[in-house]
Amino acid sequence: MSTLDPQDWSQLRALGHKMLDDMVDHLATLRQQPVWQPMSPAIRQSFSAPVPETGTDLETLYARFTTDIQPYVTGNLHPRFMGWVHGGGNPVSMLAELLAGAMNANCGGRDHVGIALERQVIAWAAEIMGMPAHTSGVLLTGSSMANFCAVLCARQKALGEAGHENGVNGTKLVAYASAGVHRCVTSALDMAGLGRASLRKIPLDDEFRMDVKKLREALAQDKKAGLTPFFIAATAGSVDVGAFDHLDEIADIAAQNHIWFHVDGAFGALATLSPALRPFTTGLNRADSIAFDFHKWAQVTYSCGCLLVRDPAIHNATFAQPTNYLAAAPRGLAGGFPWPCDLGPDLSRGFSALKIWMTICAYGTHGLSKVVENSCTLAKTLESLVRANKPLVLLAPVKLNIVCFGIEGKSNQNILDLVADLQEEGLFVPSTTVINGRTAIRCALVNHRTTEADMKALIAEILTRIA
Ligand SMILES: *Cc1c(COP(=O)(O)O)cnc(C)c1O
Repeated sequence: MSTLDPQDWSQLRALGHKMLDDMVDHLATLRQQPVWQPMSPAIRQSFSAPVPETGTDLETLYARFTTDIQPYVTGNLHPRFMGWVHGGGNPVSMLAELLAGAMNANCGGRDHVGIALERQVIAWAAEIMGMPAHTSGVLLTGSSMANFCAVLCARQKALGEAGHENGVNGTKLVAYASAGVHRCVTSALDMAGLGRASLRKIPLDDEFRMDVKKLREALAQDKKAGLTPFFIAATAGSVDVGAFDHLDEIADIAAQNHIWFHVDGAFGALATLSPALRPFTTGLNRADSIAFDFHKWAQVTYSCGCLLVRDPAIHNATFAQPTNYLAAAPRGLAGGFPWPCDLGPDLSRGFSALKIWMTICAYGTHGLSKVVENSCTLAKTLESLVRANKPLVLLAPVKLNIVCFGIEGKSNQNILDLVADLQEEGLFVPSTTVINGRTAIRCALVNHRTTEADMKALIAEILTRIA
């Protein structure tokens, strides 16, 4: 017999129940645990083993998970994790991952409920962003992929079928984004075969937004030089400081110049969930495409990003390729076109729609909106604490949920060491960035478990250490 299923299911059942109990305990006791801890050299070394030829019983493997794996993960579930921009996940999504694993649905296509759920989630995303009801979309691993796929859609619009056959073929396509653009947009142009140099990084104004006047100048110059501007990526929530480009004005410029208007709203686009924050996103609903993540501010477990595309025909033409083995059928399991495999680069795909669908249903947009608003309230609290405590100095305006501050009288290296100490001791995980040449402690408030007391504790800890 070669089946991988057990002869006796009762042992698996018992261990599975134990795993579930342990993971619920894990979630319920996060605060008592270190935020993060470094792996010992022995553990690191233990993951350089040769491939095993014979099997190991699951009980032993689970014991190894408990001692060697679970304690050393990123720590982004923890309320005192505020590094980079990481989502905290949620228990409903955790359980949905278990259910999705049990279903093992291939959501590349075919006519089954996994595809219906993905379409439902895409329709909700379009509704949340204020996009038209017919908006097309696809779930992807994250915003890096979504931004890449958006570049390909824009290239499709610019070059049409000829672009598919012959590539760029001499056309000098150029793209525009702010100097604060996420690095994945630069990679997207590289991966699309257009070269990193095809991205014009427009300087920032003093609020870290794309300087729109300079965008107009760059466009005029490139047109004069015989180049073809084809893509503007505005940022809604920049990764370093949380700044929003002037989406409405950039939408006007894109329309006047017949250029694809894309928004990288990886986390920031979800500000639109909150009536109080929605003004930041004015113009978002005019985008030709939006890239955003469910795994950041929407707290769905990793990984799940989303691309929305206003024009379904362009979206489909970008990725669809007729083949015999994937032919459409009017009925049966091969029905139900269009399939997600015609809307992105992946053929076989997991069932991430389930955890998104369950998360949105469990908490509602109101619940998620409160999480988003609370993150921004915490950022304001942290901002006032920084302003009130002298050696600390704010390095960028706090617009949304990201606070960047420095310490007067401390070198860049001192600050890097301080942050690494906090991380290694498992107390807090902020990250760092560089703002106008100065090293900043960067706190991105994303986690739904973080409270005002955590902000106070962070500042108290830092003040003690620099005293
Ligand atoms: C996180 C982020 C990305 C990349 O998204 P992934 O989901 O990590 O691939 C792109 N842009 C911005 C603004 C981000 O914050």
